Amino acid sequence: MTIRLIALAALLATPAVAAPVLDTPVQDSWWADGRAALDARLKVINRPKRARNVILMVGDGMGISTITAARIFDGQHPIDGRKPGPGEENNLAWDRMANTALVKTYNSNAQVADSAGTASAMNSGVKTRIGVINFGADQGAEACKTPEKLPRTLAEIARAQGMGLGIVTTTRLTHATPAAVYGHVPFRDWEGADRAYPAADRASGCADLASQLVNFKGGLDVVLGGGGARFLPTGKGGTRDDGRNLVAEWQKNWPQGKFVADAKGLRALNSRDMAPVFGLFTPDHLSFEHDRKDDAEPSLPEMARFALAKLEAGKAARGGKGYYLMIEGGRIDHAHHASNPYRALKEAQMFSATVADVLKSVNLDETLVLVTADHSHVFTMAGYPARGNDILGYIKPPKGGGEGDGGLSPEGYALDDRGQPMTTLSYANGPFVARGLSRTLPPNDPNYLAIKTYGTSGESHGGEDVALFAEGPRADLVRGVMEQNLIFHIMAEALGWR
Ligand SMILES: [Zn+2]
Repeated sequence: MTIRLIALAALLATPAVAAPVLDTPVQDSWWADGRAALDARLKVINRPKRARNVILMVGDGMGISTITAARIFDGQHPIDGRKPGPGEENNLAWDRMANTALVKTYNSNAQVADSAGTASAMNSGVKTRIGVINFGADQGAEACKTPEKLPRTLAEIARAQGMGLGIVTTTRLTHATPAAVYGHVPFRDWEGADRAYPAADRASGCADLASQLVNFKGGLDVVLGGGGARFLPTGKGGTRDDGRNLVAEWQKNWPQGKFVADAKGLRALNSRDMAPVFGLFTPDHLSFEHDRKDDAEPSLPEMARFALAKLEAGKAARGGKGYYLMIEGGRIDHAHHASNPYRALKEAQMFSATVADVLKSVNLDETLVLVTADHSHVFTMAGYPARGNDILGYIKPPKGGGEGDGGLSPEGYALDDRGQPMTTLSYANGPFVARGLSRTLPPNDPNYLAIKTYGTSGESHGGEDVALFAEGPRADLVRGVMEQNLIFHIMAEALGWR
């Protein structure tokens, strides 16, 4: 009797409820794909909590509208043998990374950021003023006399611990994003010894960025990018008015080091050779991928593969110590400043190909890979184009919606209230004229200059949040909405620094 009562009480306490049935009449391929994506997410990946290596990948100026447009561009014009598709369903390399956050990019004194402040936030854990590289909020040029009091960068700390270091960029190596890995300047234009760093300012005693790079304490294992003119004296292919040849100085610092000046030189190097490598492929920025000559300049994926192979190969010589590698797709930003969607999307596509290569070649149980942008651009994707519409083209709406105020042109393009066809992509400001580009070309022409609202000599950065994607040890810390300088602290935590 007692037993029966207890059993009855248990039954009353936990009434059996059947799980609700998920039932709907339309279970088509969208439904099936959605369920499969859910199942993939229900699988928990447990990574170790400590990273040996950290790779920070920055698409300069690659805001979220750029990511969406580049995803469609890459789907419509694939470069890896896939069949072209409508594009919206495509995935860029980071679209498959499991951890994502939104990042607030503002500088300590600016609502809309520049790359100096944002790259400093990522590399030294503090926000700086706009245009300032790795200085504290209250530190001016006089702080160059007490360098030990300046914010320390991840690279400086990593080197002091015997880790390997690498920088790969498509910009000048003295440009803000790569410079924030190794340098400290109160004004980002102090890249070399030229007109941009006037004599009066040089009295501050701050070393220009090019000389900071070649004299970086402990050296860098691999540095690949552009900007050779800042390293060489006038008359010898450079712009330095102080007569210094920094390539020669670097070679003197590293007698075994290999200096290369073109793609052929890089391809001839053995990535297993332990000597440091310094590649300066152009006097200024590297060419846009669309304009690149393959025998003269390596591509971004090619430089990244070399740097990664070299840093991986150096592990034994460093007693098992890992590395910090910063890889920048630096010219997405420059194409946007020229209001040129084609080159911006092509650069973003190459950046995605680089991320895909990196994810394929590292062990994600020991390597934290972060992919982000430093800031956005005033680049918009708008109107109501049909699924699969040419992302660079005029807006052709789907049947039953999306024609403009002016109706449809005979070709089916949505017209604005003045009867002009509208493009999907445009900018909120930017130049109405630019060398080699034209507003009167068809919008999917590589040299098309997209219309915009405000005329300015260069299109500007955008101030909204950017995305951060992560895989590897402590990638789980990348979530929610975060300040940009938290990126540094996440990298430090993954490396076990306290
Ligand atoms: Zn910019």
